Amino acid sequence: MTLNEHVLDLPAFSDLPLRPELLAAVEELGYTAPSPIQAQAIGPLIEGHDLLGQAATGTGKTAAFALPMLERLAELRPERSRGDAPFGLVLTPTRELALQVAEAVTRYGARLGARVLTVYGGAPVGPQWKALQQGVDVVVATPGRAIDLMNRGALRLDALETVVLDEADEMLDMGFVEDIETLLDATPDTRQAVLFSATMPRRIEVLAQKYLREPITVRIRREAVAEGEAPKVRQTAYLVPRTHTTAALGRVLEAERPTAAIVFCRTRLDVDAVTETLTARGLRAEALHGGMDQEHRTRVVERLRSGRTELLVATDVAARGLDIDLLTHVVNHDVPQSSEAYVHRIGRVGRAGREGVAITLVPPSKVHALRAVERLTGQPIEFAPVPTAADLRAARLERTRAALEEQLLSGTDADDVRGMLAGLAAEHDLLDVATAAVQLMQAVAGTPDDGDDIPVVTPGRASGPREARGRGGAAGTRPPKTGMTRLFVNAGRAGGVRPQDIVGALANESNLSGRDIGAIQIHERHALVEIPEHAADDVLRSLRGSTTLKGRRANVRRDRGFAAAGAGRGRRD
Ligand code: AMP
Repeated sequence: MTLNEHVLDLPAFSDLPLRPELLAAVEELGYTAPSPIQAQAIGPLIEGHDLLGQAATGTGKTAAFALPMLERLAELRPERSRGDAPFGLVLTPTRELALQVAEAVTRYGARLGARVLTVYGGAPVGPQWKALQQGVDVVVATPGRAIDLMNRGALRLDALETVVLDEADEMLDMGFVEDIETLLDATPDTRQAVLFSATMPRRIEVLAQKYLREPITVRIRREAVAEGEAPKVRQTAYLVPRTHTTAALGRVLEAERPTAAIVFCRTRLDVDAVTETLTARGLRAEALHGGMDQEHRTRVVERLRSGRTELLVATDVAARGLDIDLLTHVVNHDVPQSSEAYVHRIGRVGRAGREGVAITLVPPSKVHALRAVERLTGQPIEFAPVPTAADLRAARLERTRAALEEQLLSGTDADDVRGMLAGLAAEHDLLDVATAAVQLMQAVAGTPDDGDDIPVVTPGRASGPREARGRGGAAGTRPPKTGMTRLFVNAGRAGGVRPQDIVGALANESNLSGRDIGAIQIHERHALVEIPEHAADDVLRSLRGSTTLKGRRANVRRDRGFAAAGAGRGRRD
């Protein structure tokens, strides 16, 4: 049965063989209908089948294995005494995920009195040991601590009826394969085994072949979560040379200003470098390392939740199990290794009908990988130009203006400040004084040096960006014609500027005639215009740095980007 067919005749929870206590629990949680994975997995799991499920976070996979586990526990309860060894074991890659799963199982099983225990490393063994002695029904554990407790004789697996490997691919990536095999080998042959993984690399298939018996297989993509509620994720990519990725990311994030984002990096070293770059830009970024102790991890995550940090920089592994409900952005400093990994990452935003944003920095050689993601998800990824230094300066100035205006409106009755300014005004023009004050303010806020422009690149393959606009354009590098130089104007298509407007402005405000003006390129937020080199100084002097375009002042200067990079922004759209 295909997924769609299934969605069409999705059953109600009451159609599933779940007892009233469990139906009441899901109803209380506001689940109106089973998600596709729940519809497909719950019945067979209650019948005792093994299951191999490809499903990412957000598909409802936790309830898909937890509800059957609780149903079977309730069936067998009369035969079990309170001191019995655990009925179910769930292995997860991280403590966060273990806590989440345990919380879900506890909630679903509250009316059945299910005893659920979470065990993980980095916490004292004593209390976990004691709880195990008292008897628990379901243990949710990270593999390392589970082994530890098993070796100490505290965790008994001999009466286990069901074992779940949650996010198995992540556990393997984290090097838990031996621990997992040791644990599985210690469980009875008769137990049920369930394996969930967001991706299905060969290693997972091998593990499944070894430990699952004729499993039912279920494959769910994240988009299929709740009917009619596909995640709303605006996906944007920025084409940049690999060497400029981090600098470009700083600009994009400064322009985008996410309130709560995870920035994914490939390696730990990248995590540190990226955190440093973003912090230097005045963004509140913090690194999250897999090697951090739990207390530290929790504190960092807590700061993101409370809004004291805006950006959490992490590798996939370090970010495992984090479930931050108010995440607004997922940012890929690098294109993920696989389409599935990309989908898994962006599954963290756009939940419950809220809009999320996915940003990806992509070198030309990886454009094809994003195209593969588009094919997999059926959702478009738009290409956008990296904000230019001028864009960012203009945006910063606009923020300053807005802040000043707000302050002016809320009243400026600081007499001592007024007195001091009156003193300065006796000797200086007040506009100069105010300009100096704003410059000081900007210096204190730390303005990044965007002197070097980021070169524009073109995709490495014929399959160019679907909508390459402005600086993300697909033309080759082209210097100005001999004897000509290029001027940069910080207004473009977004401001309604057309080539004839530029010609008009230059011809009006300088001694150039229309015929002298060469190629004009209109980009999204800037324009480039070629004029004779010998006339450039005169033109710039008569414009005194700006001109009026479409009723607004626009700055005009020599195109430094071209001169500095040697292959700067000189190209047509
Ligand atoms: P999971 O994929 O297990 O991490 O679940 C993702 C989220 O979906 C969790 O917040 C669950 O509480 C929620 N959820 C699970 N099943 C359903 C359902 N049938 N209807 C609505 N929400 C659900």
